[in-house]
Amino acid sequence: MSIYLDYQSACPVDPRAVEFAGRYLAEDFGNPSALHATGLAAKAVVEEAREKVARLINAEGPSTIIFTGSATEANNLAIHGTAARNAGAGKQLLASAIEHISVLNPLKYLQKTGFSLSLVPVDASGLLDLEALKGQVSPETVLTSVQYGSSEIGTVQPIKEIAEIVHSGARYLHVDATAAAGKIPIDVQRDSIDLLTISSNDLYGPQGAGALYVRPGVRLQPVSFGGGQERGLRPGTENLFAIAGLGEAARLAGQELEAEGSRLKGMRDRLIGEILKIEQSHLTGHPQRRLPHHASFRFSRIEGESILLTLDAMFGIQVSTGSACSSRTLEPSHVLLAIGLKHEEAHGSMVMTLGKRNSQDEVPAIVEAVEKTVQRLRAMSPL
Ligand code: PMP
Repeated sequence: MSIYLDYQSACPVDPRAVEFAGRYLAEDFGNPSALHATGLAAKAVVEEAREKVARLINAEGPSTIIFTGSATEANNLAIHGTAARNAGAGKQLLASAIEHISVLNPLKYLQKTGFSLSLVPVDASGLLDLEALKGQVSPETVLTSVQYGSSEIGTVQPIKEIAEIVHSGARYLHVDATAAAGKIPIDVQRDSIDLLTISSNDLYGPQGAGALYVRPGVRLQPVSFGGGQERGLRPGTENLFAIAGLGEAARLAGQELEAEGSRLKGMRDRLIGEILKIEQSHLTGHPQRRLPHHASFRFSRIEGESILLTLDAMFGIQVSTGSACSSRTLEPSHVLLAIGLKHEEAHGSMVMTLGKRNSQDEVPAIVEAVEKTVQRLRAMSPL
């Protein structure tokens, strides 16, 4: 028996998206820039995918969507693209202190080239400190980047309020919606978002595609140069299979978001309720304002890595310790430190992200396995 609870690091591709996109591998395999029939068929499916992604986030139209190779690439394009294009207007960059490294690292790189970077603090539940944001936003601020929902602690930000503050003094708001898209309704027009990142695989689409929404009128400088694909912002021959699959996955996610969201929320709430009965266990992130598929905890006196390995080896249950990208380093997560945890507290984290293949029937086995794991590790712990 194995129970997979790590949908934030990888999702199985939805068979319906594979079925839809499969023919673009070997049958309708054309280059969307070619003018013959095979090329035109390929172009049509890219445009169809653009339309489907635009609809998922209620964008103004398909031309607002730029396909990239990943969420990381979309984040880099949003950040480098706006910074380079608007450097004349100001040199200040802002981001929440709990952004993913694919947002923080391009911002830190820009710092070395003469931009200033300020990280806006969050409270103990991970919500952005809006007063601090108000204090930091200025006409010099060219870009503010805040994630929609955290893949590490599940907290969902009040994006509309954040957008109002950002636009009161500064230019663009970039929102990394990698963890939130397809999980909760997103409306870029309602929330006045300027740039928004989406990942294909987080929507159960194929790996190898991402998308950046660019509000009409927002100007970006390209960061790579080549052919004129994707309005010149992401040159290079399109990954037809991944883009077609991302489009279909976005359509399915929009259609099933409400039902799947409430199904996962039911399971999430049972898991949280039961796991918090374990002695010295704590929820990380916000208790209510959180992604429907996200349950994250910390346990005193034991290490997240030991929890992960024991759950996997002894019970076939696969979880994460937090950010998939930093879980191979021994540094405590910057997200957990930003919500005010001490180093030793931040080391005891366990993140469960639920998905399509999970069901409520699994809850008792998961809870029992976590109880036994925590007991066993505490019995062995020198702390
Ligand atoms: N943003 C967030 C919030 C993430 O969790 C991740 C990792 N899944 C990324 C961006 C980067 O995604 P990718 O590694 O697929 O480019």
